Amino acid sequence: METTIVKAYGTDAAEAPMQNIDIKRRGLLANDVEIDILYCGICHSDLHAVHNDWGGTTYPIVPGHEIVGKITKIGSEVTKFKVGDIAAIGCIVDSCGHCHQCNEGEEQFCEEGWTVVFNSPDKHLGGMTYGGFSERIVADANYVLKMPDFDDLAAAAPLLCAGITVYSPLKHWKVGPGKKVGIIGIGGLGHMAIKIAKAMGAEVTVFTTSEAKVADAKRLGADFAILSKDPAQMKTARGFDMILDTVSAKHDVNTYLQALNVDGSLVLVGLPNEPLEVGAFNVVNGRKSFSGSNIGGIAETQEMLEFCAKHQITADIELISVPEVNEAFTRLENGDVKYRFVIDLKTLN
Ligand code: NAP
Ligand code: ZN
Repeated sequence: METTIVKAYGTDAAEAPMQNIDIKRRGLLANDVEIDILYCGICHSDLHAVHNDWGGTTYPIVPGHEIVGKITKIGSEVTKFKVGDIAAIGCIVDSCGHCHQCNEGEEQFCEEGWTVVFNSPDKHLGGMTYGGFSERIVADANYVLKMPDFDDLAAAAPLLCAGITVYSPLKHWKVGPGKKVGIIGIGGLGHMAIKIAKAMGAEVTVFTTSEAKVADAKRLGADFAILSKDPAQMKTARGFDMILDTVSAKHDVNTYLQALNVDGSLVLVGLPNEPLEVGAFNVVNGRKSFSGSNIGGIAETQEMLEFCAKHQITADIELISVPEVNEAFTRLENGDVKYRFVIDLKTLN
């Protein structure tokens, strides 16, 4: 197969710094598009994967799954896009396309296994896929999103993972007017969850470990903010229909289960690498659920983009250049970001 060499930013080992590397992209297949990447967000999952927190990382790795850019070439059978369109790619770049889950639009649960944009077996080139910390990407148009108009395109990039990861469960658990929702953690996912749950019409309370974020939570639109380190404040938190847990490290979920209403759900989207313990009485008493959710399918991601464009919802970002990625990783590790780093790929040399 014809390939081209493109510039990227990745690493050869868990503890090695991110640096310039060259990677291969496939030549265009009939239903492929080529995208010049303009911006790519940095999700905590990129950091988990680079550090091999979950195991299974193959090096070299090029992360990045919040990609927006401009279409530069289209394959002979592509009708969905034209050259010059602004388009986007999230986590999913391929799936079987015919199993029950794919037919339901839930490619993230594809029964034959879906292809993640990075660190996933590459069906075409062999080896592993490489993500959005690069100048260009080639992907099947079926997995590429149309980007509606946003005033700030860089600030819209985080919708491709943080946005859909919170939109999908908020919708699935029927968040809306009259519902009381909790969000744990004000990071990339958490701050998007505040904005989206408010736009859906719910009453939103956030739980944060950071005193400095309490006031900011209200600026982001939350109705109430609770400092989770303060047991007295935690005791006042009761009666939630759903609590969305975006925390990236091991933490105690039992106090949150106690804060749920009868039949309420604590929904995990954060991916700590250690198991979380659930006290039996905290779910048995009140018929509560402890559940999880993983990104969202392609059609739902497109729906989320339209929803966010309509409500003018984007992320609060710090736009950085490529050489600043290592510092950004350290800051993300330390919870020091308001609230998403986005890389300007024009700075990749
Ligand atoms: P992030 O920006 O680092 O935010 C995580 C937030 O969790 C932090 O800002 C902090 O909020 C809180 N936190 C961190 N360590 C904590 C601890 N030890 N105890 C309590 N709270 C803590 O990360 P993100 O990009 O939003 O991602 C969050 C998690 O979701 C990651 O594990 C990521 O891999 C996962 N993820 C899952 C999916 C999915 O589909 N399921 C998709 C994307 C990401 P406060 O300062 O407010 O306490
Ligand atoms: Zn992500």
